[in-house]
Amino acid sequence: LRNGFDIKRYIRTIPDYPKPGVMFRDITTLLSNLHGFRAAVDELAWPFLKGEIDYVAGIEARGFILGGAVAHNLGRGFIPIRKKGKLPSRVIGQDYALEYGVDTIEMHADAISKGDRVLLVDDLIATGGTAGAAIDLIRKSGGEVVSAAFVIDLPELGGAAKLKAKGVKVHTLVSFE
Ligand code: IMP
Repeated sequence: LRNGFDIKRYIRTIPDYPKPGVMFRDITTLLSNLHGFRAAVDELAWPFLKGEIDYVAGIEARGFILGGAVAHNLGRGFIPIRKKGKLPSRVIGQDYALEYGVDTIEMHADAISKGDRVLLVDDLIATGGTAGAAIDLIRKSGGEVVSAAFVIDLPELGGAAKLKAKGVKVHTLVSFE
């Protein structure tokens, strides 16, 4: 990383959470460290400092923490993308496949206007199902997804490749096997 700060050291791994065989990458230990939080937010934001984006959109829930800070860093507004039924005004929704079944994310229908340039932020990309659905939502509103930025990439699960195939640039800070 540019300033030599080792973000990866501050990410904790919890074996067998939320179920046996899963290695859960926990960023709460990165967020609670003042240097770690700042380094992560600065690194997520720096490619977009030249002002080519209009909004930062973050995916519930950890994408709110990171995306909110990135939006503040870039001097742009923040748009929440939430689990179904949480947003108060009129929404548009997008279904996406889970390992078992489907889930839905939503965004306010009037949050993005045609031609708005959006940076999507979340903590981690695995299969890319969640971020892919968020990209579809932003595009349904006429927005352009300039890039999708994540602290953690799990490249073996193919999410970053999937987003690139959808024509989205992907910016990630650290990766785990
Ligand atoms: P995907 O949809 O398969 O790419 O999974 C990514 C979503 O699941 C993101 O919203 C992540 O926050 C969450 N997620 C999946 N695995 C982990 C993990 O190991 N740590 C933290 N979040 C995870």
